[in-house]
Amino acid sequence: MVRTRVAPSPTGDPHVGTAYMALFSYCYAKQHGGQFILRIEDTDTARSTAKSEQIIIDSLHWLGLQWDEGPDCGGQKGPYRQSERLPVYRKYAEQLLTDGHAFHCFCSAERLQQMRSEQRQAGQTARYDGLCAGLSEQQVAERNKAGDDFVIRMKVPSEGICTVQDTLRGSIEIEYAQIDMQVLVKADGFPTYHLAVVVDDHLMEISHIIRGEEWINSAPKHQLLYDYFGWQMPELIHMPLLRNPDKSKLSKRKNPTSISFYKDMGYLPEALLNYLGMLGWSMPGGEERFSLAEMIDQFDINRISLGAPVFDVTKLKWLNGRWLREVLDEEGFAARLSDWAYNRDKLKQIIPLVKERVDVFSDLGKMISFFVEGMPDINPEDFEYKGASSDQQVRVLQFSLWLMESDLDWDSQALQQALVGLAERMDIRIRDFLKPLFIAISGKPVSPPLFDSLVVLGPEISRGRLRHALGILGGVSKKKLKKLDAEFRSLS
Ligand code: GLU
Repeated sequence: MVRTRVAPSPTGDPHVGTAYMALFSYCYAKQHGGQFILRIEDTDTARSTAKSEQIIIDSLHWLGLQWDEGPDCGGQKGPYRQSERLPVYRKYAEQLLTDGHAFHCFCSAERLQQMRSEQRQAGQTARYDGLCAGLSEQQVAERNKAGDDFVIRMKVPSEGICTVQDTLRGSIEIEYAQIDMQVLVKADGFPTYHLAVVVDDHLMEISHIIRGEEWINSAPKHQLLYDYFGWQMPELIHMPLLRNPDKSKLSKRKNPTSISFYKDMGYLPEALLNYLGMLGWSMPGGEERFSLAEMIDQFDINRISLGAPVFDVTKLKWLNGRWLREVLDEEGFAARLSDWAYNRDKLKQIIPLVKERVDVFSDLGKMISFFVEGMPDINPEDFEYKGASSDQQVRVLQFSLWLMESDLDWDSQALQQALVGLAERMDIRIRDFLKPLFIAISGKPVSPPLFDSLVVLGPEISRGRLRHALGILGGVSKKKLKKLDAEFRSLS
């Protein structure tokens, strides 16, 4: 039985890369009459949120992907949320300790830091030096009794070569000496990704792991853990990483990466899925527009090419246009448009913001067009006015963006409190502070109430417009960003 999974960490926006892995995992399973599973990897307690998990689930559903087992629908091998599986990981960590494949490590953060910097200076790869692996049982017992903090690390042979098989890349060899004695259980008792992923993939009977190539370097550690447990490693398929047009790793600073952004911009889910299917893969007949069912029908994992696929929004937009023109009739078009934004619920959100200023319906068009526009048509000159230098406006926009990227409740009151608080800390008059925001968000120096407008637009479009405005103002260089980051931190 083929069983694949997608295993996102709920730590922020639902990334198109997650949809990419989900799509290929889904197609592979369905092509073989197998099952596809959603697992939530939320062991990073500081960064994982329930809100993010929900948006991931909603986004994948919006795209039309369904899973056979998952935290929302249950299944035989659950729970499917790692934070609910702690006793399971504890049991397997204990087993590794008992079998001598893992050890307690009491090293302090300072010692580790010093060790790594010495290793780097000596031109070596930074890696745990094994100090605590040599502690006797009695020494460990004493330190545990004293209540000292510890992590559990895996042992790694000092010599020899580890070989991992990847379906697309063949065998990958790495010397054990290059592999770190990975932490498996953190000081807070939570497992790290490496222990949890191995235990879960095994217990959930995953047959094929399809994931991003950024995990290749972890595969040898995982192989070693499979060997220690005496389990069979699933087949590994590391997909190429999605790229910005300049070939760097896809990043939200250069390209919108959140699935919700594309939804809110009015892309069709079929077109986005179709586009992801074209990245690093192609239909045997070369067709560019194809449905999920057609992709499953023709799917062949060996047709994945390892060249760096570029996530090109222009191409995606073109493909979306084809779906609109070639697939939807007028009825379908109208239904989708209304689902998207031209519906009663949306209007009922907007009307209270403009009602006072409307005498006839025809006044409305201009007033509310920015609610359904993508990125407003703005120029650097729109930001020129007395009382605020361009440098100050960039700071306002960038700091507001960072604020809006934090885990903020997206309601009018919370936004107002956060932004007004920021203006005060920056010591800028509120009028001058809000002006660049008005322009960035609505394209005009005045607009319906700003905070309520942000709520209607939603976080994705709001952040997208701030990034767009920063781009219009010339962009922020890496160096400048670093400086601004330090300033922003000192303010908060
Ligand atoms: N939680 C990991 C991620 O978010 C999963 C990696 C994997 O598929 O093993 O990328």
